Amino acid sequence: MNWEVQLRKGLWIPQADCWLDAQFPATRSVVSHAHSDHVGRHKELICSPPTARLLRARMPGRRIEHILPFGHKEALTKDVTITLHPAGHILGSSLIELQGEPGTLLYTGDFKLRPSLASENCATPKADILIMETTFGLPKYVFPPDDEIFGNIITFCQEAVADGRVPVLFCYSLGKTQEVLRALQPAGLPVMLHDSALRLTRIYEQFGFTFPAYRPFNADEVGGHVVICPPPHQKGGLLNRIHARRTALISGWALDPGARYRFRCDAAFPLSDHADFNDLLQFVELVQPKRILTLHGFAKEFSLTLRERGWDAWAIGKENQLDLGLGVSG
Ligand SMILES: [Zn+2]
Repeated sequence: MNWEVQLRKGLWIPQADCWLDAQFPATRSVVSHAHSDHVGRHKELICSPPTARLLRARMPGRRIEHILPFGHKEALTKDVTITLHPAGHILGSSLIELQGEPGTLLYTGDFKLRPSLASENCATPKADILIMETTFGLPKYVFPPDDEIFGNIITFCQEAVADGRVPVLFCYSLGKTQEVLRALQPAGLPVMLHDSALRLTRIYEQFGFTFPAYRPFNADEVGGHVVICPPPHQKGGLLNRIHARRTALISGWALDPGARYRFRCDAAFPLSDHADFNDLLQFVELVQPKRILTLHGFAKEFSLTLRERGWDAWAIGKENQLDLGLGVSG
């Protein structure tokens, strides 16, 4: 028997009678992490304890929550078990390991191999089949060391404050905000957070993360503060309430030439909560899969890179259905 995988709006694994990261209201789905493009209003969901807590804040409502701590193995069907491992992407983010007669299948969700200031460290369990995200699957996406980026962000903030401007850092409210907030600790500058980010930061604290002092955004007292808020194309932008400002995008896409112009900001810093090209290659080496399926971003290009290095690797396209025989080359 082989693993069967169907990609629709999420991955359907018939043998496990379960979806992975379904993006619609499914009967039962494992949720790898609490970012909105990995979840729907499911009847029953399976996730890590921090993911359950974050989802309750972001997506209230009634559902059956099946909370699975990292490293605990449970039965999904009489033939298939599930284990979650930390994925290093955001708080609670999980690699999903399924075990059954066809062997071990590992699905990464979003992951980051380099250690993050705002996530558990990524695990690297061995698996027969690896289904991995490849958002930054081109050789040009190699990020500078985090310390160098943090130093540059702090300098940007200090210079803006010295010039009488408010430094505004565009960060997604879940994950990036908390990482940047922790990175700002040595700067000693007071920080104001957008409402949604503030609520989520409190949840990080409940799971043992500590932060420098921060307070809710208040336009009347913003002078001398660093403001962390979602990028302007997201809801709840604060920009029109801060007049003397200097803005910076904090995103892996900052590596693209022209990012500053595209995102209309004064600076751009390439801090990402995803694996970069080198992380992706290293992760494959550590997991040692017999077959690899790539997903998201530069999936085709990265599967070709892997095949050139001798791996049995294929991109999963839309509406693909694959029968993953371990002995079958494709
Ligand atoms: Zn994510």
